[in-house]
Amino acid sequence: MNAPDRAEETLKLIGNTPLVRLEGPSKAAGCDIYGKCEFTNPGASVKDRAALRIVRDAEETGALQPGGTIVEGTAGNTGIGLALVGNALGYDTIIVMPETQSREKMDTLRALGAKLVLVPAAPFANPGHFVHTSRRLAEETEGAIWANQFDNTSNRKAHIDTTAEEIWQQMDGRIDGFTCAAGTGGTIAGVGLGLKNHNENITIALTDPHGAALYNYYAHGELQSEGSSVAEGIGQGRITANLEGAPIDTQFRISDEEGLEWVAKLLREEGLCLGLSSGINVAGAIALGKQLVAEGRDNPRVVTILCDTGFRYLSTLYNPQWLEEKGLPVFDWLREND
Ligand code: PMP
Repeated sequence: MNAPDRAEETLKLIGNTPLVRLEGPSKAAGCDIYGKCEFTNPGASVKDRAALRIVRDAEETGALQPGGTIVEGTAGNTGIGLALVGNALGYDTIIVMPETQSREKMDTLRALGAKLVLVPAAPFANPGHFVHTSRRLAEETEGAIWANQFDNTSNRKAHIDTTAEEIWQQMDGRIDGFTCAAGTGGTIAGVGLGLKNHNENITIALTDPHGAALYNYYAHGELQSEGSSVAEGIGQGRITANLEGAPIDTQFRISDEEGLEWVAKLLREEGLCLGLSSGINVAGAIALGKQLVAEGRDNPRVVTILCDTGFRYLSTLYNPQWLEEKGLPVFDWLREND
């Protein structure tokens, strides 16, 4: 049998992810904390949703034609989502990624058949930054579109229409708070807008890693960053089109150490192997839960995003040598195995 031109059926596997109550975080917060298991998507991250919607919308406008090419600059997860969606629908993918990202993401992209272009890490103002490089490559490639996840609002529409709706249904409409960190901002803005459409009183909180500028922006109106983070995929320095009008009520700043502590606890005590952005999100959800309890809300229920699988970071977060090099605490059980 010939392979179909378009494999629409497999794309239905994107989304409809499980929501799980997290025992340790709930105890720590004194209220119920839930995690949306985005690592169960086919590409093992939350970014499959944005990838699918960006491609669908580009098909609908006619920008993406049969046999065309999708070009994107990404920390990796969006590239993995685009490569899978591209394979299912018959498009080539060219992925530009900073060389500082995990080895596993690069190997995965190559394995999926994407053309991988690695560039040195550079500030956004530098024309060599991975986002600008990907835009130029898209312009130079015939039949190509630039996915432009940061400023293409198809990204956040995916979360308004799917992630937020799923959370609302899975929580039976009983949800008091939502929080997550921002890379493009598609998830926080889209889920925030979608949930507020159901209930204005749901508190939407930004959880920002160190080194990002959004905490200060939402707290004091100034885009200003302090410190740094090794978390991949999060940490934004500007208001992207996806972040414009995001309904942020409050904000927390979470360190890598706090995030790693929750990565370790969720793995060893709850059997979830996650990346660092998930740990940072969980620490933010606990902070939000405590705040809602302090405000006198009766047994508040808070949801956050478990963004991607820890298997993507075996060479970094789960590697004692790497952790030591970065001055981060090494998980006890990794030392025992040395
Ligand atoms: N965590 C990880 C691991 C990611 O790759 C991303 C995407 N950059 C995010 C969180 C943040 O998602 P968003 O781009 O929707 O803000």
